[in-house]
Amino acid sequence: MGQNILVTGAGGFIGHHLVKYLVNTGNRVRGVDIKEPEFEATDADEFVLADLRLKENCVDAVRDIDVVYNLAADMGGIGFISENHASIATNNVLINTHMLQASQEAEVKRFFYSSSACIYPGYKQEETDLTPLKESDAYPADPEEGYGWEKLYTEKLCQYYHDDFGLETRVARFHNVYGPLGTYDGGREKAPAAICRKLAMAQDGDEIEVWGDGQQTRSFMFIDDCVDGIVQLTESSHSDPVNLGSDVMVTVDELVDLVAEISGKSITKRHDLTKPQGVRGRNSDNDVLRQVLGWEPGTSLTDGLAVTYRWIEQQVTTSVR
Ligand code: NAD
Repeated sequence: MGQNILVTGAGGFIGHHLVKYLVNTGNRVRGVDIKEPEFEATDADEFVLADLRLKENCVDAVRDIDVVYNLAADMGGIGFISENHASIATNNVLINTHMLQASQEAEVKRFFYSSSACIYPGYKQEETDLTPLKESDAYPADPEEGYGWEKLYTEKLCQYYHDDFGLETRVARFHNVYGPLGTYDGGREKAPAAICRKLAMAQDGDEIEVWGDGQQTRSFMFIDDCVDGIVQLTESSHSDPVNLGSDVMVTVDELVDLVAEISGKSITKRHDLTKPQGVRGRNSDNDVLRQVLGWEPGTSLTDGLAVTYRWIEQQVTTSVR
């Protein structure tokens, strides 16, 4: 039988896909966000526009809810999160603290929180060929300024609500999620979407700007795998934070080459070393994920990027007309 589910951040990339999945699997879903989904109408049974920094809006949002998926956050790609430490940390601390408080008071059955690989210490990510990050690597703490510190703090808050009040919290540390219906321009977009947009707008033979020297490494998880993992983890009995990401690591240059191949365009890269590039290397260790769920993200980067590129290309073409 379906459950009454709240998805916060339902107007955003992952929240919108999660709502679709939960409705399709027979649940009644309330979506809340300060904005409507940008690219298509929501599937949610009820969609509420509200600012979740305010406690009273969180109290309204969780009324009659069994399970909370708390994805609302002030966030963006590396350019955006490097330049807005104070506002990001303030906004997200308010959203997450009030959502946890309201959920505990309303005695919801489960509370999912979307943390991030940005909580991992800088000193573990100084090499491009780094050892994949294990959950236990989070301490001693030295997370990404602003956004990462707030995520780490909220992970602890989830643990305290679990230990002190018995709230069934679940925490996933997402590693770079990409796919269709995500922000692809305007300054908040992340690397895969920005690269797809640049290729979609390029002519054969053009030069593409790449942030950093292109040797920085990352892993990228396709949105369908992310949604699948979120729901499985929430239904599991594991309350400690778990990596949710792909463990296939590529350089940013390799990412550009893959998208170029998909686009059928031949381009040259111009590396801009003045642009922020984040940590030098990052990859997910999926041992705990495999132990807990008997599963890990399986969509290949080529398949996921092909779908994403086609969608962004279509957006770019339509907006240029
Ligand atoms: P997104 O920006 O598309 O979605 C976040 C949504 O939260 C937005 O629609 C935004 O309007 C909403 N929001 C912001 N402030 C709000 C407020 N005060 N009240 C109500 N809603 C508010 O981002 P996303 O990629 O869908 O990310 C979802 C979650 O996953 C976030 O918590 C993010 O930190 C986390 N995460 C994402 C990634 C990734 O690669 N996309 C990686 C790590 C963690």
